[in-house]
Amino acid sequence: MIAIILGPQGSGKGTQAAVLRDRLGMLYIASGDVLRSARASDTELGAVVRRYMDDGHLVPDEITVRLILDIMTKAPADRDTLLDGFPRTVAQAEALDEALTEQGRRIEVLIELIAPLEVVQGRLQSRLVCRTCGAVYNSITAPPKVEGKCDVDGGELYRREDDNPDAIDRRLAIWERQNTELLEYYDGRVEHLRVDADRTAAAVADELVDELTRHKV
Ligand code: AMP
Repeated sequence: MIAIILGPQGSGKGTQAAVLRDRLGMLYIASGDVLRSARASDTELGAVVRRYMDDGHLVPDEITVRLILDIMTKAPADRDTLLDGFPRTVAQAEALDEALTEQGRRIEVLIELIAPLEVVQGRLQSRLVCRTCGAVYNSITAPPKVEGKCDVDGGELYRREDDNPDAIDRRLAIWERQNTELLEYYDGRVEHLRVDADRTAAAVADELVDELTRHKV
């Protein structure tokens, strides 16, 4: 099964994806992580990716699609896979479909995490991230045990540069446009799981694990 997880920043996508990886053994591919690691390499590709990412632009489709497909084709074809952050545009969705069709595979499930705008805005404004392992906390609803320190590895917690009200609004507006186009593209092609993300992470996780387990049988 190949699933895509969609949801605005602050909807808990990363948290839920980690649960699905750990509880269902899914291969988890987050395009942001893949591109950040390409960005860090001392190659021509790394330099190109760096230029786009550092300017806050999307990396060109031909690079992004190639990097993600590379990871997918290296894994066994029957490995359950969860894509996060990719596809982000209809052009990427089409390229992905084309490549998967050649391999006799397809996207089966689209998970949509739904939460009111004010909820995700609030979560992003109080989001704290570990500088070393990337674990995510919320200073109000899910604070770390020791203030300013990560529960997992004791790393320093920080607020992302782009988690300020103006940048949050800008990112959410871009996300909304891309999301609408993707939902239209996938409408009728895949099973669409709409999940209420305005609940505790544990409640959302239980529903997702149940739904995907049911899908597999
Ligand atoms: P994220 O971690 O998902 O917020 O992504 C961080 C950055 O990686 C974005 O600002 C883009 O520059 C790049 N990126 C992530 N996913 C994609 C994608 N599907 N297509 C193009 N660029 C992407």
